[in-house]
Amino acid sequence: MKVAEKTIFYKAVCSEIEIFNQINQLRLPLLLKGPTGSGKSRFIEYMANEVNKTLVTVSCHEETSATDLIGRFIIKGSETVWIDGPLSIAVKNGYILYLDEVAEARPDVIVAIHSLTDHRRELFIDKLGETIRAHSDFLLVASFNPGYQKGFKELKPSTRQRFVALSFDYPKPKIEAEILVNETGIQADIAQKLVAIGTKIRNLTELGLTETVSTRLLVDAAKLINNGLPKRLAVHVAVVEPLTDEQETIQALNDLCDLMI
Ligand code: ADP
Repeated sequence: MKVAEKTIFYKAVCSEIEIFNQINQLRLPLLLKGPTGSGKSRFIEYMANEVNKTLVTVSCHEETSATDLIGRFIIKGSETVWIDGPLSIAVKNGYILYLDEVAEARPDVIVAIHSLTDHRRELFIDKLGETIRAHSDFLLVASFNPGYQKGFKELKPSTRQRFVALSFDYPKPKIEAEILVNETGIQADIAQKLVAIGTKIRNLTELGLTETVSTRLLVDAAKLINNGLPKRLAVHVAVVEPLTDEQETIQALNDLCDLMI
């Protein structure tokens, strides 16, 4: 569980800020769809800061259960005490709860959030036999990585339909280069070259990569270059190596990047 920091840089890609503001007014649940490293988490951190709400982030994985979110009894000395989980805390205090990669969580997580995603805006705490009405400021936001990538779980249509959904993708080259400059202070011409490399690799679908170059990887490469690492080496370790373990593909990508940087 982490809380949003102040002064967050986010470069808007289309109408996502306006859409979020509407959603925040209407208290609708929001689903951010898109590949990893495309700015979903950054967006919600930025928006939480803009609307002055506390953001509670839970990174879901295959072991994340409803109990982890709602809370549990723990033994303290000779007593049993109840400890609220991040969802209960957010519901009671009117925070934004961000369930990152919600499709990865156990199915009981989806069951637990159902009554918060419709007109009821309630959380049922089965272990206490209590139903809590959500604070009027409470907002539920989830993210997921659509199933075109191997190894990622799908979200059931009945669950998806409970959310208003916003799609994220890698930004257009001009915007992505601006992001690199803003994030790292790198020179604009190097940022443009890095973005050109990213765009080129994203279009090489024949490589069959499970995941392609994210904005995050380009930001990492830019940080390393800005910190003094030779450009080619920075691209090899920050962009190429994280993408694959296949030696032939690594070699082909390194050759391509060496030409482009
Ligand atoms: P996701 O949550 O989609 O996996 P993140 O939000 O963590 O991705 O984005 C990864 C990194 O990419 C961020 O830390 C940030 O440096 C950069 N980034 C991506 N999109 C944007 C954007 N629109 N504005 C600012 N930074 C961005």
